[in-house]
Amino acid sequence: METRINGHTTMLGLFGSPVSHSGSPAMYNYSFEQAGINDAYLAFDIQADEMPRVLEKMRVLKMRGANVTMPCKNVAAKLVDELSPASELIGAVNTIVNNDGVLVGHNTDGEGYVENLRYHGVDPKGKRLTVLGAGGAATAITVQMALDGATTIHIFNTKDIFYKNAELTAQKIMKRVPTCEVTVGDINNQVALEEAIKKSDILANATKVGMAPNIDQSNIKNPNIFRPDLVVTDTVYNPAETKMLADAKRHSSQTIGGKGMLVWQGAEAFKLYTGRRMPIADVTRIFFADDGGH
Ligand code: NAD
Repeated sequence: METRINGHTTMLGLFGSPVSHSGSPAMYNYSFEQAGINDAYLAFDIQADEMPRVLEKMRVLKMRGANVTMPCKNVAAKLVDELSPASELIGAVNTIVNNDGVLVGHNTDGEGYVENLRYHGVDPKGKRLTVLGAGGAATAITVQMALDGATTIHIFNTKDIFYKNAELTAQKIMKRVPTCEVTVGDINNQVALEEAIKKSDILANATKVGMAPNIDQSNIKNPNIFRPDLVVTDTVYNPAETKMLADAKRHSSQTIGGKGMLVWQGAEAFKLYTGRRMPIADVTRIFFADDGGH
């Protein structure tokens, strides 16, 4: 018999499509149970055009909050009542907190990346970063690193539909965080890319390159660019160690995979919902077990 859900239980959820594969319900429900919090979390298959009605129902049902995934992240940023500084700059929301009917949008993807860096002993303050990518994950990382004190960010992307987004993000950041210089370049210009990496402390891959099933691919064509004092990070979490990370490890760089970012963005959302710490070690062990170096 289910004993945890009763007349006092508060509901949270995930909005997006598809969501049936999501690990979020298991991760949050486990964490609520461990923390003795009477909340329950479900996944709802929602399209972007349904979001206005969904957010109204969040208020009616007094849901405590919700995570938002594709294709609803951008529309959510337009619909909530208030935006956190990061989600305003990113233009996308992955977490909504319902404060007595006032819906506040946050974006914890970038915070997840930065918290995972800190967990691995890397402080973003004063750092120079090269980011590969200009989509959702890359924009979140770029914005949060700027807000948390990075001094220079070089964004590289292929000249696809996301390239314009990189230029817009650069402009927005330099206006809001004048202490951070942001440049934008073509990822296919390996000479410029290598120059930027030479001047950087951290390299972040936030493109889909290296993701299963294309696990033999890397944006970095010359692995000799990796060096011991470069921190090399990937947002890709399947596989846990991408070709880029394996190449970097062989050249003695510190490497950080994408699973930690996934756990920490959830932990940041959990903190926003409950004011409590997610049991990170247990969650990592139970739900993200196969990655020793997340
Ligand atoms: P997105 O669709 O918003 O952006 C895709 C990015 O990949 C763009 O910059 C695009 O130009 C680039 N790209 C795609 N194909 C490419 C190619 N062949 N060569 C070079 N660049 C290419 O996607 P997203 O949501 O930002 O996801 C990007 C990556 O980040 C994915 O691998 C995803 O799994 C990962 N991610 C990880 C986390 C995490 O918590 N670890 C969270 C979000 C996304």
